[in-house]
Amino acid sequence: MFQKCGFADASGELEGADYVVIGLPFDSTTSFRSGSRDGPNAIRLASLNFESYERDCDVDLADLNICDLGNMELGSDPAYAWATIKEGIALLPDNVVPVFLGGEHSIAPPIIGGLVQKRHSELGVLVLDAHMDLREEYGCTRFSHACTSRRILEIEGARSYASIGIRSGSKEEHSFAAENGACLFTSREVREMGIDSVLDAALESLSCEQLYISLDLDALDPAYAPAVGNPEPFGLTPWDVKRVIERLATRAVGFDISELTPAYDRGETALMAASLARWFIAVKARGNKGY
Ligand code: MN
Ligand code: MN
Repeated sequence: MFQKCGFADASGELEGADYVVIGLPFDSTTSFRSGSRDGPNAIRLASLNFESYERDCDVDLADLNICDLGNMELGSDPAYAWATIKEGIALLPDNVVPVFLGGEHSIAPPIIGGLVQKRHSELGVLVLDAHMDLREEYGCTRFSHACTSRRILEIEGARSYASIGIRSGSKEEHSFAAENGACLFTSREVREMGIDSVLDAALESLSCEQLYISLDLDALDPAYAPAVGNPEPFGLTPWDVKRVIERLATRAVGFDISELTPAYDRGETALMAASLARWFIAVKARGNKGY
Protein backbone atom coordinates (compact mmCIF):
# COMPACT_ATOMS: atom_id res chain seq x y z
CA MET A 1 0.00 0.00 0.00
CA PHE A 2 2.85 2.38 0.86
CA GLN A 3 5.61 2.94 -1.61
CA LYS A 4 9.03 4.32 -0.75
CA CYS A 5 10.11 6.72 -3.45
CA GLY A 6 13.46 5.12 -4.12
CA PHE A 7 14.75 3.93 -7.47
CA ALA A 8 12.09 1.66 -9.00
CA ASP A 9 12.48 -2.04 -8.18
CA ALA A 10 15.35 -1.27 -5.78
CA SER A 11 13.52 -2.55 -2.74
CA GLY A 12 16.18 -4.99 -1.55
CA GLU A 13 18.44 -4.74 1.49
CA LEU A 14 22.15 -4.05 1.26
CA GLU A 15 22.94 -7.53 2.50
CA GLY A 16 22.72 -9.81 -0.47
CA ALA A 17 22.40 -6.98 -2.97
CA ASP A 18 23.91 -7.41 -6.42
CA TYR A 19 23.36 -3.77 -7.35
CA VAL A 20 23.26 -0.62 -5.25
CA VAL A 21 21.89 2.75 -6.30
CA ILE A 22 23.64 5.69 -4.61
CA GLY A 23 22.71 9.35 -4.99
CA LEU A 24 25.53 11.90 -4.96
CA PRO A 25 23.79 15.29 -4.70
CA PHE A 26 26.86 17.48 -5.15
CA ASP A 27 27.01 20.53 -7.47
CA SER A 28 29.31 23.10 -5.88
CA THR A 29 31.61 23.62 -8.87
CA THR A 30 28.81 24.09 -11.41
CA SER A 31 29.86 26.52 -14.13
CA PHE A 32 26.64 27.36 -16.03
CA ARG A 33 23.25 25.92 -15.06
CA SER A 34 23.13 24.86 -11.44
CA GLY A 35 20.98 22.39 -9.56
CA SER A 36 22.37 18.94 -10.34
CA ARG A 37 22.21 18.25 -6.59
CA ASP A 38 18.52 17.57 -7.27
CA GLY A 39 19.42 15.02 -9.94
CA PRO A 40 19.36 11.80 -7.91
CA ASN A 41 15.81 12.22 -6.65
CA ALA A 42 14.54 13.36 -10.06
CA ILE A 43 15.99 10.20 -11.63
CA ARG A 44 14.38 8.06 -8.92
CA LEU A 45 10.99 9.66 -9.55
CA ALA A 46 11.34 9.20 -13.31
CA SER A 47 12.30 5.54 -12.83
CA LEU A 48 8.79 4.82 -11.56
CA ASN A 49 7.50 5.36 -15.10
CA PHE A 50 9.00 2.17 -16.47
CA GLU A 51 7.93 -1.46 -16.53
CA SER A 52 10.13 -3.65 -14.36
CA TYR A 53 10.47 -6.09 -17.29
CA GLU A 54 13.17 -5.15 -19.81
CA ARG A 55 12.08 -7.00 -22.91
CA ASP A 56 15.30 -6.70 -24.96
CA CYS A 57 17.21 -8.49 -22.18
CA ASP A 58 14.39 -10.73 -20.95
CA VAL A 59 15.25 -9.47 -17.48
CA ASP A 60 12.74 -8.37 -14.86
CA LEU A 61 14.35 -5.84 -12.56
CA ALA A 62 11.86 -6.78 -9.87
CA ASP A 63 13.53 -10.22 -9.73
CA LEU A 64 16.99 -8.74 -9.07
CA ASN A 65 18.58 -7.82 -5.75
CA ILE A 66 18.83 -4.06 -6.08
CA CYS A 67 19.22 -1.81 -3.05
CA ASP A 68 18.75 1.96 -3.11
CA LEU A 69 21.02 3.30 -0.38
CA GLY A 70 19.69 6.85 -0.69
CA ASN A 71 21.83 9.94 -1.02
CA MET A 72 25.23 10.60 0.53
CA GLU A 73 25.57 13.79 2.56
CA LEU A 74 28.32 15.56 0.69
CA GLY A 75 28.13 19.16 1.88
CA SER A 76 29.47 21.90 -0.35
CA ASP A 77 33.25 21.62 0.00
CA PRO A 78 34.63 19.57 -2.92
CA ALA A 79 37.54 18.09 -0.94
CA TYR A 80 35.10 16.90 1.74
CA ALA A 81 32.73 15.51 -0.90
CA TRP A 82 35.52 13.58 -2.62
CA ALA A 83 36.75 12.09 0.66
CA THR A 84 33.20 11.14 1.66
CA ILE A 85 32.50 9.43 -1.67
CA LYS A 86 35.70 7.38 -1.30
CA GLU A 87 34.82 6.44 2.28
CA GLY A 88 31.33 5.40 1.22
CA ILE A 89 32.65 3.14 -1.52
CA ALA A 90 35.07 1.48 0.91
CA LEU A 91 32.07 0.50 3.06
CA LEU A 92 30.21 -1.29 0.25
CA PRO A 93 30.09 -5.11 0.23
CA ASP A 94 32.63 -6.70 -2.10
CA ASN A 95 31.51 -7.27 -5.68
CA VAL A 96 28.28 -5.30 -5.41
CA VAL A 97 27.83 -3.22 -8.58
CA PRO A 98 27.15 0.44 -7.79
CA VAL A 99 25.09 2.77 -9.96
CA PHE A 100 25.72 6.38 -8.97
CA LEU A 101 23.23 9.15 -9.66
CA GLY A 102 24.77 12.66 -9.76
CA GLY A 103 25.29 15.39 -9.04
CA GLU A 104 27.78 17.06 -11.29
CA HIS A 105 30.44 15.13 -13.17
CA SER A 106 33.14 15.90 -10.59
CA ILE A 107 31.79 12.91 -8.64
CA ALA A 108 33.49 10.52 -11.09
CA PRO A 109 37.19 10.77 -10.08
CA PRO A 110 36.61 9.92 -6.40
CA ILE A 111 34.28 7.08 -7.42
CA ILE A 112 36.92 5.61 -9.72
CA GLY A 113 39.69 6.16 -7.17
CA GLY A 114 37.55 4.51 -4.51
CA LEU A 115 36.72 1.51 -6.71
CA VAL A 116 40.36 0.98 -7.70
CA GLN A 117 41.33 0.94 -4.02
CA LYS A 118 38.45 -1.27 -3.01
CA ARG A 119 38.89 -3.85 -5.72
CA HIS A 120 42.71 -3.81 -5.74
CA SER A 121 42.52 -3.97 -9.49
CA GLU A 122 43.18 -1.76 -12.44
CA LEU A 123 40.25 -0.30 -14.28
CA GLY A 124 39.68 0.92 -17.79
CA VAL A 125 37.53 4.05 -17.80
CA LEU A 126 35.11 4.98 -20.54
CA VAL A 127 33.75 8.52 -20.31
CA LEU A 128 30.83 9.73 -22.41
CA ASP A 129 30.95 13.52 -22.53
CA ALA A 130 30.55 16.52 -24.83
CA HIS A 131 33.48 18.12 -23.05
CA MET A 132 37.12 17.15 -22.77
CA ASP A 133 37.15 17.96 -19.02
CA LEU A 134 40.93 18.13 -19.26
CA ARG A 135 41.57 21.44 -17.49
CA GLU A 136 44.22 21.48 -14.79
CA GLU A 137 41.92 23.72 -12.78
CA TYR A 138 38.78 25.77 -13.31
CA GLY A 139 37.26 28.44 -11.12
CA CYS A 140 40.28 28.25 -8.82
CA THR A 141 39.75 24.57 -8.03
CA ARG A 142 41.24 21.32 -9.31
CA PHE A 143 38.04 19.57 -8.16
CA SER A 144 35.88 21.29 -10.80
CA HIS A 145 33.60 19.29 -13.08
CA ALA A 146 35.61 20.89 -15.90
CA CYS A 147 38.64 18.89 -14.69
CA THR A 148 36.99 15.45 -14.42
CA SER A 149 38.93 13.60 -17.12
CA ARG A 150 42.20 15.29 -16.14
CA ARG A 151 41.77 13.96 -12.60
CA ILE A 152 40.76 10.50 -13.88
CA LEU A 153 43.97 10.34 -15.93
CA GLU A 154 45.95 10.99 -12.73
CA ILE A 155 44.44 8.04 -10.85
CA GLU A 156 46.95 5.29 -10.38
CA GLY A 157 45.11 2.15 -11.31
CA ALA A 158 42.87 3.84 -13.85
CA ARG A 159 45.13 2.24 -16.40
CA SER A 160 43.32 3.00 -19.59
CA TYR A 161 40.93 5.72 -20.65
CA ALA A 162 38.77 6.72 -23.59
CA SER A 163 36.14 9.39 -24.04
CA ILE A 164 33.37 9.46 -26.65
CA GLY A 165 31.08 12.30 -27.68
CA ILE A 166 33.61 15.15 -27.52
CA ARG A 167 32.73 18.44 -29.23
CA SER A 168 33.96 21.10 -26.82
CA GLY A 169 37.30 21.96 -25.28
CA SER A 170 39.73 24.84 -24.91
CA LYS A 171 42.82 25.20 -27.04
CA GLU A 172 44.91 24.23 -24.01
CA GLU A 173 42.85 21.09 -23.49
CA HIS A 174 43.33 20.07 -27.11
CA SER A 175 47.09 20.58 -26.72
CA PHE A 176 47.14 18.53 -23.53
CA ALA A 177 45.18 15.75 -25.21
CA ALA A 178 47.55 15.67 -28.18
CA GLU A 179 50.69 15.75 -26.03
CA ASN A 180 49.44 13.00 -23.75
CA GLY A 181 47.83 10.81 -26.36
CA ALA A 182 44.40 10.96 -24.73
CA CYS A 183 42.02 8.60 -26.51
CA LEU A 184 39.16 10.87 -27.58
CA PHE A 185 36.37 10.41 -30.11
CA THR A 186 34.19 13.26 -31.25
CA SER A 187 30.45 13.20 -31.79
CA ARG A 188 31.20 13.91 -35.46
CA GLU A 189 33.25 10.70 -35.64
CA VAL A 190 30.34 8.80 -34.09
CA ARG A 191 27.99 10.26 -36.69
CA GLU A 192 30.32 9.53 -39.59
CA MET A 193 31.69 6.12 -38.54
CA GLY A 194 28.85 4.78 -36.45
CA ILE A 195 29.01 4.04 -32.75
CA ASP A 196 30.17 0.45 -33.16
CA SER A 197 33.25 1.41 -35.19
CA VAL A 198 34.12 4.14 -32.70
CA LEU A 199 33.63 1.77 -29.81
CA ASP A 200 35.83 -0.84 -31.48
CA ALA A 201 38.59 1.77 -31.69
CA ALA A 202 38.03 2.89 -28.09
CA LEU A 203 38.20 -0.70 -26.87
CA GLU A 204 41.67 -1.06 -28.35
CA SER A 205 42.75 1.52 -25.78
CA LEU A 206 40.60 0.10 -22.99
CA SER A 207 42.78 -2.92 -22.46
CA CYS A 208 41.66 -3.73 -18.90
CA GLU A 209 39.20 -6.56 -18.46
CA GLN A 210 37.29 -4.54 -15.87
CA LEU A 211 35.76 -1.25 -16.90
CA TYR A 212 34.03 1.71 -15.36
CA ILE A 213 31.51 3.75 -17.36
CA SER A 214 30.96 7.43 -16.60
CA LEU A 215 28.06 9.10 -18.41
CA ASP A 216 28.01 12.88 -18.39
CA LEU A 217 24.50 13.38 -19.78
CA ASP A 218 25.65 16.29 -21.95
CA ALA A 219 27.24 13.66 -24.23
CA LEU A 220 23.70 13.28 -25.54
CA ASP A 221 22.34 15.89 -27.91
CA PRO A 222 20.30 18.53 -26.04
CA ALA A 223 17.34 17.49 -28.19
CA TYR A 224 17.24 14.29 -26.14
CA ALA A 225 18.73 15.50 -22.84
CA PRO A 226 18.20 19.26 -22.58
CA ALA A 227 18.40 19.61 -18.80
CA VAL A 228 22.13 19.46 -18.19
CA GLY A 229 24.59 21.91 -16.69
CA ASN A 230 26.36 22.74 -19.95
CA PRO A 231 24.23 21.80 -22.98
CA GLU A 232 26.21 21.36 -26.18
CA PRO A 233 24.44 20.84 -29.54
CA PHE A 234 25.45 18.22 -32.12
CA GLY A 235 25.65 15.35 -29.69
CA LEU A 236 25.10 11.62 -29.46
CA THR A 237 21.73 9.95 -29.87
CA PRO A 238 20.13 7.84 -27.13
CA TRP A 239 20.72 4.80 -29.37
CA ASP A 240 24.47 5.50 -29.41
CA VAL A 241 24.62 5.63 -25.62
CA LYS A 242 22.36 2.61 -25.26
CA ARG A 243 24.63 0.65 -27.58
CA VAL A 244 27.77 1.58 -25.59
CA ILE A 245 26.13 0.32 -22.41
CA GLU A 246 24.89 -2.79 -24.21
CA ARG A 247 28.40 -3.71 -25.29
CA LEU A 248 30.29 -2.78 -22.11
CA ALA A 249 27.99 -3.37 -19.15
CA THR A 250 29.00 -6.97 -18.59
CA ARG A 251 32.62 -5.84 -18.09
CA ALA A 252 31.67 -2.83 -15.96
CA VAL A 253 32.24 -2.76 -12.20
CA GLY A 254 30.23 0.44 -11.84
CA PHE A 255 28.40 3.19 -13.66
CA ASP A 256 27.55 6.82 -13.02
CA ILE A 257 25.13 9.27 -14.58
CA SER A 258 25.79 12.95 -13.90
CA GLU A 259 24.91 16.55 -14.75
CA LEU A 260 21.09 16.35 -14.75
CA THR A 261 19.68 19.74 -13.74
CA PRO A 262 15.99 19.06 -12.99
CA ALA A 263 15.01 22.76 -12.81
CA TYR A 264 15.57 22.96 -16.59
CA ASP A 265 13.74 19.72 -17.32
CA ARG A 266 10.21 18.94 -18.43
CA GLY A 267 10.94 15.40 -17.36
CA GLU A 268 12.54 14.04 -20.51
CA THR A 269 16.15 14.25 -19.32
CA ALA A 270 15.38 12.53 -16.02
CA LEU A 271 13.48 9.84 -17.92
CA MET A 272 16.48 9.34 -20.22
CA ALA A 273 18.81 9.03 -17.23
CA ALA A 274 16.51 6.60 -15.42
CA SER A 275 16.02 4.51 -18.56
CA LEU A 276 19.78 4.25 -19.18
CA ALA A 277 20.44 3.32 -15.54
CA ARG A 278 17.85 0.55 -15.80
CA TRP A 279 19.30 -0.55 -19.12
CA PHE A 280 22.76 -0.86 -17.55
CA ILE A 281 21.41 -3.07 -14.76
CA ALA A 282 19.32 -5.19 -17.15
CA VAL A 283 22.17 -5.80 -19.60
CA LYS A 284 24.52 -6.67 -16.78
CA ALA A 285 21.97 -9.02 -15.25
CA ARG A 286 21.43 -10.69 -18.60
CA GLY A 287 25.18 -11.25 -18.84
CA ASN A 288 25.24 -12.72 -15.37
CA LYS A 289 22.46 -15.11 -16.36
CA GLY A 290 24.85 -16.56 -18.88
CA TYR A 291 23.24 -15.40 -22.09
MN1 MN B 1 31.96 16.12 -17.87
MN1 MN C 1 30.16 17.61 -20.16
